[in-house]
Amino acid sequence: MPNNQYAFFNGQIVPIDHAQVSVMTHALNYGTGCFEGIRAYWNAEEEQLFIFKLRAHMERLHRSCRILYMQLPYSVDELCQITVDLLRKEGFREDVYIRPLVYKSDPLIAVRLNDTTDSFTLWAVGFGQYLDSSALRVCVSSWRRIEDNIIPSRAKVAGAYINSALAKTEALLNGYDEAIVLGSDGHVAEASAANLFLVRNNTLITPPITSDVLEGITRQVVIQLAHERLGLHVVERPIDRTELYIADEVFFCGTGAEVKPIIEIDHRKVGEGTPGPIAPLLAQLYREVVHGKVAAYREWCTPVY
Ligand code: PMP
Repeated sequence: MPNNQYAFFNGQIVPIDHAQVSVMTHALNYGTGCFEGIRAYWNAEEEQLFIFKLRAHMERLHRSCRILYMQLPYSVDELCQITVDLLRKEGFREDVYIRPLVYKSDPLIAVRLNDTTDSFTLWAVGFGQYLDSSALRVCVSSWRRIEDNIIPSRAKVAGAYINSALAKTEALLNGYDEAIVLGSDGHVAEASAANLFLVRNNTLITPPITSDVLEGITRQVVIQLAHERLGLHVVERPIDRTELYIADEVFFCGTGAEVKPIIEIDHRKVGEGTPGPIAPLLAQLYREVVHGKVAAYREWCTPVY
C-alpha cells in the first residue's frame, strides 16, 4: 500500500484522497499526459533526504510538454520548489519515488492536443527496488520500440508506456526479469523503462540518443562517472542484437532501475554468467553519489530538510 498522505493538485498541496479526476478526463481515455520518474534517497548519517538530479528531470518534463503542445504553468525552478515542499510536508525518512504528471484534463471527446486544458499534479511514495534482482535474466522482445515519427521516444509520454508494458509483460510471462527492445531499424534501443550499456574490451558502449531511446538522465550520469571515476572510454553508437550475446557485460540503468547487471540474455550467459567487474563498480559508485556521499557530485543532490 502507498504510504503517502498528500499530493500537489490544482495548484496546492491537498490530502491524497482529494486528488481525484473524472472518468471523462482526456488523459485517462487517450493517454495524453507526460511525466517524470524521480528518486530521493535517505541519507541516515546526515538525517537528510536528497532528491537526485531534480532539475534535469524538470527540464525534461518541460521538453516533453513542448512536444505534446502542453502549457506547463510552472517554471523549472517552481517545479523544483513544489517537489521539495511536498516531500517536506510528507516528512519522509526513507527512499522515495516522485511522480510529476502533466495531463490533458478536459472531459472532451476529441483526439487532439491543441485547444485543451493542461493540468499538473505531483505525488511521491516511499519506494524500494524497481527491479528486484541484482543479476537479471532478460530476453530480446518481439515488440519493437516506438520511434520518433510514431510516438516520440525522447518525450516521456504516458500513452507510450503501452509499448513498454507490452514488452515487459511478454518478458515476465515467459519467465524473464526484463525485456530488451529493438528499434524499428533492428538495432538495440533500450529496456522497457531503462537505458542499456554493454562492455566490450573495457569500453562502455550505448545506443546514441537518436536511436529511439529516452534521453536518460541516469544514462548521462553513468557516462560521466565511467569516464571521470573509472577512466573508461565510452562510445555512443548503434548496437546489433548479436553484440548483446558476445559482450563481456551488459547492464541497465535508469532512475527506477538504478544500475543493474544482466547475467543472461536469450538463454546465453553474459560473460561468465555472473555480474562484473565493471557494472557492480558503477552500481556501487551510483549508490554513493545518489546518497550525497561523493563531494564532487553533491550538487546533483537537492536536500529536502
Ligand atoms: N527509457 C525509458 C523508456 C524509461 O522509462 C526510463 C525511465 N525514466 C529510462 C529509459 C531511464 O531514464 P532515466 O535515467 O532518466 O530515469
